[in-house]
Order: sequence, then structure tokens, then C-alpha cells
Amino acid sequence: MTRTINHIVIAGAGQAGARAAEALRARGFKGSITMIGEERHLPYERPQLSKALLRSPDTPLAYIKHANDWNEALDIRIATGSAAIDGDADRRVVSTADGRSFPFDALLLATGTRPRRLPALEGAQLEVQYLRNVEDALRVRRHIQAQSRIVIVGGGVIGLEAACAAANAGCHVTLVENEARLLPRAFPAAISDLVADKHRNHGVTFVFSTTVTGSSSRSVTLSNGAEIAADLVLVGIGVTPSGDLAARLGLPVAEGIAVDACGRTAVPGIFCAGDAALQWSRCHGRAIRVETWANAQNQAISVASNMIGETSDYGDPPWFWTDQYDLNIQVTGDMRDADHIARGDPGSGRFSVIAMRGTELVGALSVNATKDMAMLRRIIATDARPGRADLESPAYDLRTALKAR
Ligand code: NAD
Repeated sequence: MTRTINHIVIAGAGQAGARAAEALRARGFKGSITMIGEERHLPYERPQLSKALLRSPDTPLAYIKHANDWNEALDIRIATGSAAIDGDADRRVVSTADGRSFPFDALLLATGTRPRRLPALEGAQLEVQYLRNVEDALRVRRHIQAQSRIVIVGGGVIGLEAACAAANAGCHVTLVENEARLLPRAFPAAISDLVADKHRNHGVTFVFSTTVTGSSSRSVTLSNGAEIAADLVLVGIGVTPSGDLAARLGLPVAEGIAVDACGRTAVPGIFCAGDAALQWSRCHGRAIRVETWANAQNQAISVASNMIGETSDYGDPPWFWTDQYDLNIQVTGDMRDADHIARGDPGSGRFSVIAMRGTELVGALSVNATKDMAMLRRIIATDARPGRADLESPAYDLRTALKAR
């Protein structure tokens, strides 16, 4: 049965929600759009929280599209300050923590993720900070400006980007990572080492294969028995999908909210996009959640068109970037469990690493090599299959792989 779509509700007023709303209007949807956001802010993008906002004391929060008239111009009703926490899939309604109800014909779950908590620091007397919203970032920034002693737990993207900002501002920074190296999820070992060395040159101390087990009012205790003085503990140990609303709507949420290539959940009329969506990835050979800026934008745009009856498959390989001092590192696809082929000379500081499984390119990482990455993203997205010998040859032009298609 085809349902007439007059009322669309978007649960989540982050980047995915906002881009979906824009896309609905761009595709000509004339019905009502209501966006429900837990934060009191209009939508903004999160990369600035661990980058620009931490780097400089004066940088203001940048909203999506200058904010003030963004929603009015697009005729989008935004209900901020209270999360959508309950709903009924049969009655087609969602409700917020402060008791408001919103009926829908189609619903987009763009509820994102929340930081994983570190049980050892619950109830700590010391200041403990997670980094998910602008208020979190401003608190961390105040410590950075005060040149506090900062212990960072987690050597992932948040931990490393915050460590850069803090070390550059002259803070005393110790980073505690429970794996044996940095960003094992995305980096080959040689890149983890390169990044660690760069941080050490800026004064950051690493403690690997260790975690935080306790704290006093002025220090943390580590699993190796060491005690480290700290004014602030910043925890960035990954995220979990915000699936409370999905669960209330009868959708199972374990690894994430499962969707097909069109962003459809198991309940007709309910879609999901962004960090919380669990979708098949060819590069990984399994369904994954993609926690990136690019996915929040592009998956949401694609899913929005499906909400109003179009059929648009989304399957962009994951892609993210991180700036570590003078290193711009970009990663696409999946680097794990693959053969790695180097292109360019690592000694020059500008090179790429390509991940292959059999004849298939499944991932790539670039260091200060944005042009290579632009080509490699297209090669992987189109499943072009240049030969291994070509890729290993410094003379081989990556554009050839695309032209051959
Ligand atoms: P992450 O998954 O990137 O890294 C978490 C790190 O914490 C891992 O290295 C993990 O081994 C470590 N860890 C886990 N448990 C630990 C423990 N108990 N003790 C010590 N270390 C532990 O997650 P994150 O850095 O928290 O980032 C959170 C989210 O923000 C992600 O979705 C990420 O993609 C996003 N983000 C992205 C960017 C970017 O794309 N440049 C930047 C900042 C944040």
C-alpha cells in the first residue's frame, strides 16, 4: 500500500537530520517537516568540536547555514531542547521527554550516538569530560586555555585531535589507550607509529595497553598501577548508537539500527540515517555503522529522497579525515585484514597506502596526499580494479583506473 506522505518527523537535529530536511525541500516535498532535537541549538556539524573550537579561544560555534533563518526559509518546524524518547509505530506518533507529541506519515531516525562511559570514572571528584556537544567542547577549551594538566583516555580521533589542540596550547598531556597503538580501528601500525611520534615531538606522553581504573580529586590511577596528576580527564573511548526511540518503536538496536540500501528500517515508513544506521558496506563485507561527517550528510540526503517515494541506493564507502599537527590524514573504506600497497615515499611526508583483498580495493589511507585520496575514493566507490602491479608502480597514474571503466 502506498501511503500519502504529508507529515515528516525527523528525530534528531544534528547534521544528518538537517541535511535530510534540506534535501526533502530540494526534492520538492511540500508537506510539513518537524525536526526534534535534544540540544537547545539549531543544527551544527560536529567536526568543529574537536578541531576549530578547541584550537582557538575566539572561534564561535558555526551553525549549519547561518542558522537564524535556516528553518524559516525552508519552512521546517524545529522543536529543540527535548529528545524524542517514545513513539508508537502503529499510531504513527513520537513524543518528547517534555510531553509533546508529533504525528508522522514518515519518520527519520537521525538520533546519532552517545559517548561510551568509563565506569571507573563515574562519580569521580576530578573533572571528567566527554566530547559530544558544543558545551562539552567549550569546557574542554577553557582547560586548554588555562594550560591544565589533561589526561586523555582513548587514542581515537577525539583523543588525538584534542591532544593536538592541548599540546599546541602548552598543556601537559598524557594519553592513555587500552590497545597497543593508536587508532587500531582505522590505521595500519606504521601510521599509528608516525602519528604517535608526531605527538611525542609536541610533548604528548602515551601510555599504551592501559586504562584508567580510578581517581582522586587531583589524579587518575591506571591499570598498570601508575598515578597521574590531572586537572581534567577527557574521555573519548568510542560511541554507542542512541537507540531508545527506535527500541520503543519496536526496532531491535544492538550494533545499530539496521537499514537497507534505501535507509528503510524493518518498520514501513520509518527510516534511519547517520551515525546510528547499520548498513551493508561492500568494503567491510558486513553491515557497519559509519560515524563520519560525510556519511551524516550524504546518507541523509539519499534517504530523504526515499522517504518521499524515490528509490535511491546509498553505498558510498566510509571516508573521514583528521588533522594531526602538519599531517592531514584521510581514510576511506576498510584498512583491516588486507594487503597494503604503498604509493609514494613515506620519507617525503606525502604518500598513500592502499588496502587490497584479492583483486578488490577495499580501503585507502593518505598522508598529505589529498589528490591521491580523491582518486582512490572514486576508484573504490566504483569498484574499479586496477592491478596490484600497476598500483605498486610509481609511474602509474590513478586516473587510468577510472578511464578504463
Ligand atoms: P574512536 O572509536 O575513534 O576511538 C576510541 C579509542 O578509545 C580507541 O582507540 C579504543 O581502543 C580506545 N579505548 C576504548 N576503550 C578504552 C578504555 N577503557 N581505556 C582506554 N582506551 C580505550 O572513538 P572517539 O575518539 O571516542 O570518537 C567518537 C566519535 O567521534 C566517533 O564516532 C568518531 O568517528 C567521531 N569523531 C570523528 C572525527 C573525525 O572523523 N576526524 C573526529 C572526532 C570525533
